[in-house]
Amino acid sequence: MRSYEKSKAAFVEAVDLMPGGVNSPVRAFKSVNLDPIFMESGKGAMITDIDGNEYIDYVLSWGPLILGHSEPKVVQAIQEQAAKATSFGAPSLSENELAKLVMDRVPGVEMIRFVSSGTEATMSALRLARGYTGRDKILKFEGSYHGHGDSLLIKAGSGVATLGLPDSPGVPADIAKNTLTVAYNDLEAAKIVFEKFGSELAAVIVEPVAGNMGVVPPKPEFLTGLRELTEKHGTVLIFDEVMTGFRVDYGCAQGYYGVTPDLTTLGKVIGGGLPVGAFAGKREIMENIAPAGPIYQAGTLSGNPLAMTAGRATLEQLTPDSYEYFKNLGDQLEEGFRAAATKFNIPHTVNRAGSMIGFFFTNENVVDFESAKTSDLALFAEYFKLMAEEGIFLPPSQFEGLFLSTAHTEQHIAKTVAAFHTVFEKLAR
Ligand code: PMP
Repeated sequence: MRSYEKSKAAFVEAVDLMPGGVNSPVRAFKSVNLDPIFMESGKGAMITDIDGNEYIDYVLSWGPLILGHSEPKVVQAIQEQAAKATSFGAPSLSENELAKLVMDRVPGVEMIRFVSSGTEATMSALRLARGYTGRDKILKFEGSYHGHGDSLLIKAGSGVATLGLPDSPGVPADIAKNTLTVAYNDLEAAKIVFEKFGSELAAVIVEPVAGNMGVVPPKPEFLTGLRELTEKHGTVLIFDEVMTGFRVDYGCAQGYYGVTPDLTTLGKVIGGGLPVGAFAGKREIMENIAPAGPIYQAGTLSGNPLAMTAGRATLEQLTPDSYEYFKNLGDQLEEGFRAAATKFNIPHTVNRAGSMIGFFFTNENVVDFESAKTSDLALFAEYFKLMAEEGIFLPPSQFEGLFLSTAHTEQHIAKTVAAFHTVFEKLAR
């Protein structure tokens, strides 16, 4: 048995210092009924906690570290930039450089504005869509997470096209009522919303691959259907690619699926592990942002040179071959998981997109939040704990996907597959 004594002590101290002992809820391990593990260092695909336990890391800071931890060129870029300056509050060339890199690869990006988090990116994209269209309502999909902005923290109402109710105290009902929600992948429900509210809808915001209910890829007609609906009704189509951006493919999910949105939000990978976000899209829409246009948005640390430099060093090392590599590793991980789960009679479904993988403890086809929720959460909690014991660090929630990095090797995958066998044998008892 591994010892987690130092983590336990650190958590006791932390709960007195920070609400729930953490600075972001999912880190508290509540959905797996454990105390959180405090991490100390990372190198490549491996991380080490403060008790000295080592793990193969499939969280990768929730996605950003697509090259693994402390990748030498990224570290060097950060060090060189830090020695020059960490921030100016004036333009610097690093912003132009990252902007050009993103623009070259992502079909829907003609102009970009950098911010400091994914939440900021989606909030700003919504304001832009609303200011541009002069409309208030938006449509989002049940089980999708777009950060914690008021308009986006909305639970689905019952049935199709019910007006949104706040998902959290503190979100004004007056704001929530403008957020309509339907099931992910349910194009028919989206059509009904458009029939009723089409002329009032400023934006549809969608994860082109849902990554916040586990991994749920879009059905073939879903994204193209949304593209047609939004075009017809003068509604801004926003792809939230904070998670999928440069993870699903070289040109993001929009490149992979061949559907170009009006606006795109980015984060995670484009900051190489430093705090970053961006909203981007058609020039005609983007030029409405201040100071080019009247819609206000700003940030003291926006386009921060350290984050821009880390992002650039990351994107420069990703090639179309990187995504072939992820596919091969993903195939091995998926096959290993399926074989072990089948052998020990563990209910399972696997969904994948690029370097995002969702293992669900259900035999149902997972296409939306309802089907994701058929998963056995108690089984997941046990699995998470036993996998950690085997030195495999997974996202501590059934509703989050695993990520791969270029630092993961076939040896890491083989070790993980061996752990699936050990753990499923225990779970089958
Ligand atoms: N959009 C999506 C699709 C996300 O997955 C996340 C975070 N996981 C966000 C937005 C919010 O990003 P951040 O946590 O950087 O605010």
